[in-house]
Amino acid sequence: MSDRRLYVSFKIAEICNLVCDYCYFFFLGDESYKEHPKLISAATVEAVGQFLGEGARDLGINTVAVAMHGGEPLLVGKKRFTDFCEILERTVNPHTRLAIALQTNGVLLDEEWLRICGRFKIRVGISLDGPKPVNDRSRIDRKGRGSYDKIVRGIRKAQQAAADGVIEPPGALIVIRPDTSAREIYRHVVHDLGLKRLDFMLPKDNWDSHSPEFTRFLEGYSLDLLNCWLEDDDPTVNIRSIKQMFAPFLTDVALDVRTNYLADMTEAICIRSNGDVCPDDTLPAVDSTFCTTGFNVHSATLGDFYQAPFWSDIRQTVLRPPEECTKCEWMGVCGGGEIVTRFSKARKFDNPTIYCTRNKLLYGRIREYVLKYIDAAVITERLERSRKLMFGLPAAVPGTNTSAGAPALAVDAA
Ligand code: SF4
Repeated sequence: MSDRRLYVSFKIAEICNLVCDYCYFFFLGDESYKEHPKLISAATVEAVGQFLGEGARDLGINTVAVAMHGGEPLLVGKKRFTDFCEILERTVNPHTRLAIALQTNGVLLDEEWLRICGRFKIRVGISLDGPKPVNDRSRIDRKGRGSYDKIVRGIRKAQQAAADGVIEPPGALIVIRPDTSAREIYRHVVHDLGLKRLDFMLPKDNWDSHSPEFTRFLEGYSLDLLNCWLEDDDPTVNIRSIKQMFAPFLTDVALDVRTNYLADMTEAICIRSNGDVCPDDTLPAVDSTFCTTGFNVHSATLGDFYQAPFWSDIRQTVLRPPEECTKCEWMGVCGGGEIVTRFSKARKFDNPTIYCTRNKLLYGRIREYVLKYIDAAVITERLERSRKLMFGLPAAVPGTNTSAGAPALAVDAA
């Protein structure tokens, strides 16, 4: 907590050169992008820089991590993108550490873009769904053409730039699609494409929008993915969200990791191309309160923004788990799950995540794995301390509510 970070999803382009049908930004109910500039202006970026830099100074935030996001951020063009980075460096750096990242679909990536990324020490993440037949099912352009070949060309250029020392090795963000194989996708991305820093994104669905069949599919998929990673046994491969799930089992530092995880959920904000500020950019899809907050970088400070009433609701949601979770043995590490996936119109956030069964499966498998290396009593003590630290709840009896969601594990990765 001493290294307080603010994560900013910065929508510098609210248009895209692809039309992926599952995109939460354009196709899951929030249509505010229609009212916003397609590309952000330099004046708004200047105001964003001041908002973040001065806000970080006033609130004691040590790092501002800005992800250049969209839509497709590269659509702003190279000159404008360079200007934006210069503005952010000039306005944020005097007050706090600035770390810029880029999340792109990779279609437009070329050597010049990568030199720009190198100049500003930008970490590059590229989105793709898997092998060509999987990727080109949904990641298509406006004419219905698949994007795989262009994405892979961008990946190869980014890898060459990394080999030349221009940028860090690129990462990959994979959206999990129905009727796909975790193993096939893991092998393709890690072994065929050579990407080692990756994450698999679960749909940002909630109890009103999710498909029960797909949610069930994701349970087996996630377990397959975890087992595949364990079998690979390659410490240079980092699946971010799964690695985070190991942390509470492995070290007492995980208590801090867990605390920071909860803080992250309240310290992730989104800035739109018109300068509007809202919490985490997945929340507007569930409730318009989180979209039209009334705060804009041209007229408000970061401190003002954090005084908004919805923050106390979000903090309460993060810190107070749903009733169903209070007796769960994984509560100290899961905490009820990602808040957007807890939402229903009837009960707001007072539900376990739609991925509850999946989480139980993964935590069960992780405990089984680490038990080969760490004494069971140590793990139990860590999990209970994590529970008490976060929620002050009494201990749950291990195994009391995992049986329904945790069938015998098929693969032993030892
Ligand atoms: S695993 Fe399910 S019941 Fe347990 S804390 Fe997470 S969401 Fe709640």
